[in-house]
Amino acid sequence: MARYIGPVCRLCRREGMKLLLKGERCHSEKCAIERRNFAPGQHGKDRRMKVVGYGLQLREKQKVRRHYGLLERQFRNLFEKASQSTGVTGDVLLSMLERRLDNVVYRMGFGTSHPQCRQLVRHGHLQVNGRRVNIPSFLVKPNDVVEVRSKSRSNPTILAARDATAHAPTPNWLEVDREALRGRVLAMPKREELVQLQLNERLIVELYSK
Ligand code: SF4
Repeated sequence: MARYIGPVCRLCRREGMKLLLKGERCHSEKCAIERRNFAPGQHGKDRRMKVVGYGLQLREKQKVRRHYGLLERQFRNLFEKASQSTGVTGDVLLSMLERRLDNVVYRMGFGTSHPQCRQLVRHGHLQVNGRRVNIPSFLVKPNDVVEVRSKSRSNPTILAARDATAHAPTPNWLEVDREALRGRVLAMPKREELVQLQLNERLIVELYSK
């Protein structure tokens, strides 16, 4: 699957907010949003450009898609699934994004960024309910136990991430035993507990409903 491999801070600057794609650096003064909070490119500082209508909807979708590290096609497929389920489409979409295995690993603090967690999953360091899962888009459900596999418990990247995220809050829908590198899904995530970003998912639904 193709990946965006360009400079990720550029994506944050384009959206004008922290998308938290670089782990610890995102919380330091080195963060590009702290130093250069304007859009990249020659006209990045031109604040006269007002974003309305379609532009607003597009930016909202791009924020979410980039935060979770999905390609357009993956995001669109997820939206189609969300729109076919019962419930409010925007809420279901965010819930599905949040329940992706790479995101759950991130929320549990076994990695410091979405890209890193995605790689940990792809490289087979995680298991769900005792079985190895190397699919980042795997959706966890209540009572699933997510843990670092025994052969990876001394992995320096995972241990460093666990220490770096020691004080990060754990969402209410997850329970984490950091020492054991294990966590459990307690419930389906609720809208108010979702995503670290300020966003309006209604605009995403409007964009894809045209
Ligand atoms: Fe770069 Fe992280 Fe700051 Fe975004 S939040 S600009 S990825 S350091």
